[in-house]
Amino acid sequence: MEEVLEQASLARRAHWLVKLRWLAIAFLVGAVFVARRIFNIHLHEQALYILAGVILVYNAMLYVALRRTDRHTTEQMGTTLNRILFLQSSADLFFLTAILYFSGGIENPFSFYFMFHMIISSTLLSRVQSYMQATMAVVLFGLLLLLDYQGVITHYPLRGFAPEGLHTDGRFVLGYWFVFTTTVYLVVYLATSIVAQLRKQQARYRNANEQLQQKDLIKNEYVLRVTHDIKSHLAAIKSCLDVVGAGMLGPLNEKQAEFVERANHRAEKCMKFISSLLRLTRMRMTGHFDRTCFPFKNLLYDSFAAIEDRAVSKNITATYEIDPVIDQVCGSEVLLEDTLTNLLSNAVKYTPNGGTVTLRAKDQKHEVLVEISDTGIGIPPEEIGDVFNEFYRASNARETVRDGTGLGLSMAKEVVERHGGRIWIESSPDGTTFFLTIPKDSAVS
Ligand code: ATP
Ligand code: MG
Repeated sequence: MEEVLEQASLARRAHWLVKLRWLAIAFLVGAVFVARRIFNIHLHEQALYILAGVILVYNAMLYVALRRTDRHTTEQMGTTLNRILFLQSSADLFFLTAILYFSGGIENPFSFYFMFHMIISSTLLSRVQSYMQATMAVVLFGLLLLLDYQGVITHYPLRGFAPEGLHTDGRFVLGYWFVFTTTVYLVVYLATSIVAQLRKQQARYRNANEQLQQKDLIKNEYVLRVTHDIKSHLAAIKSCLDVVGAGMLGPLNEKQAEFVERANHRAEKCMKFISSLLRLTRMRMTGHFDRTCFPFKNLLYDSFAAIEDRAVSKNITATYEIDPVIDQVCGSEVLLEDTLTNLLSNAVKYTPNGGTVTLRAKDQKHEVLVEISDTGIGIPPEEIGDVFNEFYRASNARETVRDGTGLGLSMAKEVVERHGGRIWIESSPDGTTFFLTIPKDSAVS
């Protein structure tokens, strides 16, 4: 996994460098134009435009090469990418030296751009490779200054910008090169040290993340085993209660019947809780559920029907506005129905008597948007981010409705996201709306 990530980020960096080079080419052309045409500085315009053209072709070739490596297997990709990055950086040094050659050499302050190059290569390459780049820059620039000084190569002065003859002043040339060299190595030293620290930290985070995932897995396995065990004991308790409650072991007086009924009710709630926990944990562990294509509109009607009685008993006006064009959705019918029923039950549960609950569903090209609004107690703004966490119940909900596990919403979020959809909340003290999008043809992850 680490290998793949490393290679993925290498590929990203290589692409980024290509993008950066497009900008650099545009900048070069612009700078030459402005210097010559606006500031009337004499430079070898033609050679510089040709150079920009050469870099353009070279960058286009790199772009194609990188596209090809994207299709390679991971094993080949890592080394190829690193090689491409190193060659790119080296070629850039040559180009920068050539640009300086045609535009005044030592007279051109753009020699500072070598430092940018050093910082970029320090972040992209290994420490050793970065020092190799620094040495290459020092040698190339030094060679340019030396040959210019000795008159071995033609000097193209930046007339109109810098005083003439700088390149023949031995002391100045040597001093300039000395400062250039020390700066280059210092920049590489600083940049590679910072990058090394960041990389170490990144490795630590990755490690910690892996450990957390491992712990999460252990926790899920533990929860799965315990809940499974509890569930079978509960089922046994419930069937005993059913037998007693049905009077099969002799008639019960009113008080006994009431207590058996209460025990039964509690056992049922506990079973529901255990079942939800089991389902959630299983889904988290395997990430798998059965997928079919089914009419989503029917599912909306069924979910609504499931809470209607409860709404009536609380004198809540429950209505729906379902877009008639909503048709097939592919996903887990059971889990989606569970999710909608859960959200609608919450709406009824957290809305005081006489309020309203509305279910809206709109067809939106590739997805269905479902909105469940109520005029209930709302969710305090500072707790909205927490209600999707397992076992979390907002403070106002705990005060108003004692019963609740705080599992319903985390389950809903898991289901919606596994279907490739989104779920979010808007809430105020006057009520809450849950929004969820369900892609019509979701690739269940
Ligand atoms: P359970 O679903 O097991 O009965 P619960 O309803 O408390 O318990 P969730 O459905 O996960 O658990 O909801 C988590 C919390 O989100 C709730 O406790 C409540 O604070 C808040 N909440 C959810 N829906 C609403 C709503 N429609 N209005 C106000 N608060 C809500
Ligand atoms: Mg709930």
